Amino acid sequence: MKIHEYQSKHIFAKYGVPIPNGKVAIAPKEARDIAKDLGGRVIVKSQVLVGGRGKAGGVKLANSPEEAEQHAATILGMNIKGLTVRKVLIDEASNIKSEIYLGITNDRAKRMPVMMVSAEGGVDIEEVARVSPEKIIKVHINPLLGLQGYQIRDIAVSIDLPRENWKEFSVIANGLWQAYDKSDATLAEINPLVITEEGTLLAVDGKMLIDDSAIFRHPDIAEMRDTDVETEAETIAREHDLSYIKLDGEIGCMVNGAGLAMTTMDIVKLFGGSPANFLDIGGGANAEKVAAAFRIILSDPNVKVVLINIFGGITRCDEVAKGVLAAIEEVKPDVPMVVRLVGTNAEEGRALIAAANMITAETLAEAAEKAVAAAKEA
Ligand code: GDP
Ligand code: MN
Repeated sequence: MKIHEYQSKHIFAKYGVPIPNGKVAIAPKEARDIAKDLGGRVIVKSQVLVGGRGKAGGVKLANSPEEAEQHAATILGMNIKGLTVRKVLIDEASNIKSEIYLGITNDRAKRMPVMMVSAEGGVDIEEVARVSPEKIIKVHINPLLGLQGYQIRDIAVSIDLPRENWKEFSVIANGLWQAYDKSDATLAEINPLVITEEGTLLAVDGKMLIDDSAIFRHPDIAEMRDTDVETEAETIAREHDLSYIKLDGEIGCMVNGAGLAMTTMDIVKLFGGSPANFLDIGGGANAEKVAAAFRIILSDPNVKVVLINIFGGITRCDEVAKGVLAAIEEVKPDVPMVVRLVGTNAEEGRALIAAANMITAETLAEAAEKAVAAAKEA
């Protein structure tokens, strides 16, 4: 889950990272008042969950409260990479001497978090990474030991950080690590971490990604969710506890269990079809869950047929069938459905499905074959 710059910086600040004074506004007049309180010279920053806001015109320096109001009027409502700006952060402007990149993410290959640092931070960091990757220093962090003092000193030397900033840098690097670790983040990034004209360090921009599987441990962060970045299907899936990933095929798959869902996708491909999605409705799927799954699958215009593959273990097939029928009643899909039910009360389930004019199948292969054929006909 992505959180906004101002939210990320608040979390960083909790762990001792210095950030500029600032406040969020949703209207130009409010931006003006905040700018006035901050002394007039501010930076007006769009709060949208995409990178490269600066280059897109979503970050603007203002020299007076009036100018801040004008910039806010321009930026609020602006479309940046498909997202509408609804909030702006008004930060006290800083006088930037140089920009450092400082970030932590997971290195899956090394199975460890890695801190990445570059003396050439700022809006062109991707370019630096592409053209001169040697300018980005990587230090792996043992999660049991945490970030060590010697590692921080190594980094400071590698980026030629002035001696007088070492102590502050140590606090910031440690703070970022704590924020990353304690929030179950998969990314914590300060870009730029600036050296100001006054010679101090300041985290001017902040970004965090939180591991979705750990959100339940952070109710305060869960509240920060901005559904603007999700598709409607993703929102429905999350709200109904369904694991859903959109793909670009034409056979919508509704399956219980992640392993069975993967198998179903493979068999669909084996028979020459292509799955429109991965969708695991989980155990104990009731009518409500099934209906949500239908709505998700059918919201995809590419879907030509729905393949329902359910294994009834603890879940009873007749209950699932009733759920499917109730969901159909509600959603009224206009594409053919192929249903394969197997396991507890499969006979009863199949009878219900067959009575409702859907295509039934006994085996997964048969179901996949029929679904592929139906998709070709459509
Ligand atoms: P991003 O483009 O989404 O990464 O947004 P940033 O917050 O990183 O802002 C982009 C760039 O704007 C930074 O790299 C800085 O060069 C510049 N910038 C941001 N805040 C300030 C500030 O307070 N003063 C000045 N002079 N420039 C700033
Ligand atoms: Mn940035």
